[in-house]
Amino acid sequence: MGDSQPVLIDFGLTLAEGDEATDDEETWLQFAKEMEQPEFYDLVSKSKPLTPISTFKYPQQIRRHYEKMVRFPVGLLVLGDAVCSFNPVYGQGMSVCALQVGALRDTLAECNGSIDSQTSRSFFRRTARLIDNPWLLATSADFLYDKAEGHRRFGLSILLWYITKVLALSSCNDKVTKSFLEVMHFVKSPAALFHSGGLFPVLGSALGIYGKPSQDRPIIS
Ligand SMILES: Cc1cc2nc3c(=O)[nH]c(=O)nc-3n(C[C@H](O)[C@H](O)[C@H](O)COP(=O)(O)OP(=O)(O)OC[C@H]3O[C@@H](n4cnc5c(N)ncnc54)[C@H](O)[C@@H]3O)c2cc1C
Repeated sequence: MGDSQPVLIDFGLTLAEGDEATDDEETWLQFAKEMEQPEFYDLVSKSKPLTPISTFKYPQQIRRHYEKMVRFPVGLLVLGDAVCSFNPVYGQGMSVCALQVGALRDTLAECNGSIDSQTSRSFFRRTARLIDNPWLLATSADFLYDKAEGHRRFGLSILLWYITKVLALSSCNDKVTKSFLEVMHFVKSPAALFHSGGLFPVLGSALGIYGKPSQDRPIIS
């Protein structure tokens, strides 16, 4: 990143477990300074803010199972956040909306524009399948915070352990980064994280073969 080039950086810090998000610049910078990776603080401490700091709260992720409804008004379909609203920190909401629009296109093509109760059932089943994987990832990741409420499915602690390793390694291991981004962008299913490109580095990290991610390679270069 050249010194003479102005760079617009749009960034946020995520707090959890009852922390109060601050709009005070000094407190915010102090928080950034305490992060494990030094690059973020180095960058923002030298940058000039374009706007005051904004904060927002997002208390819960919500999924509504329209596919389980026995009856639904004919001629109405629901998609987007009205079906499933993700914590924005996972950046999934618009992507899942786009997938649902694709499902809407396919459903309308199949029924030749003649919408009946079967159409909505077929649409909601389709969209439910599209939402399942991102919902699994987003809700599982929320359980990294002790105070997160909700049903903790069997095997969750192993999944969380694995996700934590993947997240740490994705800052320094190209194969893990690629698998992680492919899953987050719905190019591949979450199972891809458990294939050799993800599994071996995670096991290597657990056995201490890899060092701390922040020591291996800087995030920002
Ligand atoms: C801070 C933040 C960051 C995000 N970042 C990302 C990201 O990086 N990537 C990503 O994929 N997603 C992100 N999302 C999620 C994304 O914005 C939503 O998933 C997406 O906007 C949902 O689209 P929607 O049309 O379903 O709902 P909305 O965009 O909420 O649109 C609903 C519209 O309906 C209007 N409305 C509500 N009630 C009524 C009423 N009674 N009458 C008339 N109009 C009404 C609202 O004013 C609004 O304009 C983020 C969300 C937030 C809050």
